[in-house]
Amino acid sequence: MAYDRIFNFSAGPATMPVEVLEEIAAEVLNYRGSGMSVMEMSHRSKVFQQIVDEAEADLRELMHIPENYKVLFIQGGATLQFSAIPLNLMKNGVADYIVTGAWSKKAATEAKKYGKVNVIATSEDRNYSYIPDCSDLPIDEDADYVYICENETIHGTTYPVLPNTKGHVLVSDQSSMFLSKPCNVADYGVIYGGVQKNIGPAGLAIVIIREDLIREDLDPKTPVYLRYDTHASNGSMYNTPNCWAIYVCGKVFKHLLKNGGLESMAKINEAKAKVMYDFLDSSKLFHGTVDRRDRSLMNIPFVTGDKDKDVAVIAATKAAGFDNLKGHKSVGGLRASIYNAMPQEGVEALVAFLKKYEEENA
Ligand SMILES: *Cc1c(COP(=O)(O)O)cnc(C)c1O
Repeated sequence: MAYDRIFNFSAGPATMPVEVLEEIAAEVLNYRGSGMSVMEMSHRSKVFQQIVDEAEADLRELMHIPENYKVLFIQGGATLQFSAIPLNLMKNGVADYIVTGAWSKKAATEAKKYGKVNVIATSEDRNYSYIPDCSDLPIDEDADYVYICENETIHGTTYPVLPNTKGHVLVSDQSSMFLSKPCNVADYGVIYGGVQKNIGPAGLAIVIIREDLIREDLDPKTPVYLRYDTHASNGSMYNTPNCWAIYVCGKVFKHLLKNGGLESMAKINEAKAKVMYDFLDSSKLFHGTVDRRDRSLMNIPFVTGDKDKDVAVIAATKAAGFDNLKGHKSVGGLRASIYNAMPQEGVEALVAFLKKYEEENA
């Protein structure tokens, strides 16, 4: 492979498109005749303003974001949004959370500091290996929003259908599935995610929020940086933004547009995941840990059922040039994260290796 790159199955920060890395490398000493790199540039410069404007416009085109939604680029990763969401959206002081894994659990725990949190459904009983039926949940009449993590990065689940929120605002953490398939933005009040899983470098969250949810009548003690109106009224530049991450994400948006947009990504991602799941379903040594209908296209946890065997397989994959396949400790075993930038050949090579390993260790 060019540049001696290996197949990197990391859950995040994660592999990025080689074409994008090449473009960045070519621009790193002198960005388009500006005489400096984007790392060195004032965020108030015309050159950088154009980078942000194009990034937003390209994201809007990719996701078909309606006019009445704002796109915000905010530092602090997805984790800061666990606090920002209740601080900005709790008007009645009540929110309903669906807890399907580590990330939605963390978000619910944080929200409890700011108001009443009802956990209206959870899959904790089977270690978050499925998505509960969300067609008729006991939504609190006063709930300001219903919260989901749409793709649980650690547990490897995704929603086959969105929950019925009975008219309440839906808030979704899409960190590990952002731009992996088409998304009907109008179904949500807020979509957000850290970009370091499926888009770019760490340290930036993108928040897509319906305008009427951006309020000014917040508790005056709300930290200024956690207020959505701060970011919305300052074009995501109240302070120095994560310029570098915005620049790189912008490159990835252009790369996706050039390659057929999200419809095309969905087809490719489904084909890649099928290679992995078909193997796991036919293997005698390995099996997936998630119920079939709720399986993620992006994060695929799998185990042998024997901890020592898992450790041996992880070591063997690493020696063979497949990195970051160790599963999270709460699930154990292995996890292959196969985001947009993981090529089909990477998944096929991994499956070929695991097949051979299985034969040799039968
Ligand atoms: C990684 C991840 C987070 C946390 O992201 P940070 O940018 O590290 O704060 C939150 N939610 C999901 C679903 C994630 O995968």
